[in-house]
Amino acid sequence: MELEADRELATRIVERLQGAGYTAYWVGGCVRDQLMGRKPKDFDVATSAKPEVVLGLFPGAQLVGASFGVVLHGGGIEIATFRSEGNYRDGRRPEEIRYETEAALDATRRDFTINAIFYDPVSNETIDFVGGKSDLEAGVVRAIGDPHVRFGEDHLRLLRAVRFAARFRFALEAKTFAAMTEMASLIVKIAGERLHDEMRRILTGPNLDLAWKHLSESGLMRAMVPEAKAGFRLTSLSGAVSVSLGWAALLEGVEDANPVYRRFRFSEEEKHACADLLANEDRFRTLSQMSLSHLKRFLRRANINDHLELHRATHGETSAYRFASEMVASLGPEILFPAPLIDGRDLIALGLEPGPRFSQILKQVEDAQLEGRIQSKEEALRLAVA
Ligand code: ATP
Ligand code: MG
Repeated sequence: MELEADRELATRIVERLQGAGYTAYWVGGCVRDQLMGRKPKDFDVATSAKPEVVLGLFPGAQLVGASFGVVLHGGGIEIATFRSEGNYRDGRRPEEIRYETEAALDATRRDFTINAIFYDPVSNETIDFVGGKSDLEAGVVRAIGDPHVRFGEDHLRLLRAVRFAARFRFALEAKTFAAMTEMASLIVKIAGERLHDEMRRILTGPNLDLAWKHLSESGLMRAMVPEAKAGFRLTSLSGAVSVSLGWAALLEGVEDANPVYRRFRFSEEEKHACADLLANEDRFRTLSQMSLSHLKRFLRRANINDHLELHRATHGETSAYRFASEMVASLGPEILFPAPLIDGRDLIALGLEPGPRFSQILKQVEDAQLEGRIQSKEEALRLAVA
């Protein structure tokens, strides 16, 4: 629904710009997705109008990142002025951008042919300066222009190539792939935040078998995460993969993952989620010997399916795996999350001083409940004062 509204809005934006005498098209992912019969995620508009003109035509639009001349309209429609990009510093970001009035120049600064097709939603025509449509039909990810130059300008494109090839199960065009293998080691020059973001998209995307194949065969994985010796486990993951599960599969067996977390700028939370999966991977073997309260506390973790899947990807469907997944499937919330028998107010009524000891007592009581040792409030109160 929201998407339909975006499509409508993106069409009207193009209409308005064209009506004011400018060239304006949809471009990038939305055109590619639409030609593939997929639902676009969001709509990007490219135009010959300069940012200040766009701002004048659409009151309420906002300029984001002044130097990039992108205007945000409504929730998520980007209106970017045609540009060519000159002088990349150090394979990272362009030092300067030059606004252009020709769409063709805006096409050739983009990364891959399938990402550089324009579409005019008013006339319903596609405008393709780079052979993107035939590559889309053939299922090929091909750098625009000389791949060495293009990957040299912005090394992040090395990972973007992997992402698009994996996502669509497309082949990497031979010269594009050859350049990737030659230039793979340059990926380490990219800022950790950008790497992190791109890896997140790859790891949570579909077709991890292909992602792994391209990452390993190109040498990108060796350059980025030389620690990972058994990253192929990634290919055994199935279903929707969370980012922490993806990283955990990559890092399984790595002695100390902290340098990786640092290099890829993990937040504390992300680091914790991944380290927790890796740490508990070992505990799996002992599940059947755990006390019932420990076991239930483990099985009721919000990310229990990630724990199960990491174990399965690493060791296969072991008896511990079958035991745990059967328990998860069969134990309902009333067993894993029974209503508390007592709470802090009951402890106060017993004459206990509120304090940190309260949570200890309540945890002991819950343990006893999870183990089936107590069932009633009276038993819980007796245990609390014991
Ligand atoms: P997605 O569906 O994943 O968002 P997308 O094609 O929209 O795919 P974005 O990262 O949103 O990808 O970028 C939008 C467009 O901007 C791309 O289609 C491409 O034309 C261009 N682009 C993005 N990043 C780069 C880059 N590093 N180098 C060159 N062009 C780029
Ligand atoms: Mg996009």
